[in-house]
Amino acid sequence: MIVGAGPAGASLGLLLAERGVRVALVEASRRFDRQFRGQGLMPCGLEALTQMGLEPLLADLPQRPLAGWSFSVNGRELFDAAEPLGSARPCTLLPQPALLAALVQRARQQHTFAWMPGETVQGLVHQQEGRIAGVRLSGNRVLAADLVIACDGRASGLRRAAGLPIVSAPSPIDVLWFQLPAHPRCSADNRFMVLLGPGGGCSLFPAAEGGELQLGWLVGPGERITRSPQEWAEAFAALAPAWLAAHFRGHATRIRGPETLSVQVGCCPRWQQPGLLLLGDAAHPMNPVRAQGINMALRDAIVAANWLVPLLQQGAGPQAVDAVLPRIQQERQAEIQWAQRAQQAEAAQGDLLRRRPELRALLAPLAPLAGPLVKALWVRRQRLLRDGFLPVRLRV
Ligand SMILES: Cc1cc2nc3c(=O)[nH]c(=O)nc-3n(C[C@H](O)[C@H](O)[C@H](O)COP(=O)(O)OP(=O)(O)OC[C@H]3O[C@@H](n4cnc5c(N)ncnc54)[C@H](O)[C@@H]3O)c2cc1C
Repeated sequence: MIVGAGPAGASLGLLLAERGVRVALVEASRRFDRQFRGQGLMPCGLEALTQMGLEPLLADLPQRPLAGWSFSVNGRELFDAAEPLGSARPCTLLPQPALLAALVQRARQQHTFAWMPGETVQGLVHQQEGRIAGVRLSGNRVLAADLVIACDGRASGLRRAAGLPIVSAPSPIDVLWFQLPAHPRCSADNRFMVLLGPGGGCSLFPAAEGGELQLGWLVGPGERITRSPQEWAEAFAALAPAWLAAHFRGHATRIRGPETLSVQVGCCPRWQQPGLLLLGDAAHPMNPVRAQGINMALRDAIVAANWLVPLLQQGAGPQAVDAVLPRIQQERQAEIQWAQRAQQAEAAQGDLLRRRPELRALLAPLAPLAGPLVKALWVRRQRLLRDGFLPVRLRV
């Protein structure tokens, strides 16, 4: 049984069901679009979906391959880097709700798959000897399982119920999320823009569909700001080139938000107990910086399928299943920790420039000279964040 139909749970559910393994996917929500979900898929995440045989499914989804990334400090462009930055494919924006709905819809074509939306797991059920044997649903109903795979996200209730500790890394940022109509030039340029300047910093990009601009305003951890839409428009405009600043001011009344997205980063020293495996954000909540979480979740699902499918196809006993759970963590942990360190470094650098006017004042006039060097260093760091730290191959 899998709990949670985010990228980790939905993709693993599909992989198992298509390989003849009986699996129930339990999801608290009845809808996929109930909250903001990231849209950025890096080349290694797209490659994971290709390995799952989902290229035709992907082709039918709304999507926007990015044309590049641009960084500005105090209104001056520091550098612009064109996609695909040496990777096989560009970073692509893809609405997560559409992707998740398509994965679940495809899995439902298998008689081995049971879809259980609108069911919130309340706790774990243990056998007498302590092995986890299922979950408890509302009304004290019990759902038995040979293995519970907790893909219930960064606030994982199953992680807590199992008493599996998490080592959290302090995040230098939280994000306030806004939407507003996109300027036609944003859609045409098709760039992920990072703007740092007086009063703050933000990143923005044209959404994968719907003609909107998504804008994330960076704040310190736990920091909350109260402003009117007009004041927000002015704050955005203060960082933006003139054409975009005018757009922000002209669309002040159509700014939606902010939605506060508190960033949590960490990793569990143990992703498993007898009868239980944590995957995705439940095992390692990811920072939103440079779009890693969906990719890591998809790659977790591939590695888990490689280890579990042969055993579950043969109806192996609990001991054999429990014995491979640490191998899944072992195979994934190095990449996760590397990616989290790279994300933290990137977030910390952006945060430093956001908070230190004297650094921005130094860097902005030097942009024409320093820009190419900063770009070369940035592009080098992106390589592994985009293509993966270790090869991940679906073998089943
Ligand atoms: C602001 C922000 C922006 C981001 N942008 C990106 C991006 O652009 N690209 C990227 O790769 N990553 C991004 N991320 C990270 C990414 O969203 C996560 O890493 C990813 O969604 C993790 O996938 P998951 O399947 O592990 O968990 P989730 O996507 O969190 O899914 C967990 C699922 O479990 C369900 N659930 C929870 N509890 C229960 C329960 N008790 N019973 C039943 N169901 C339950 C939830 O309803 C949910 O559907 C972003 C994160 C944030 C915060």
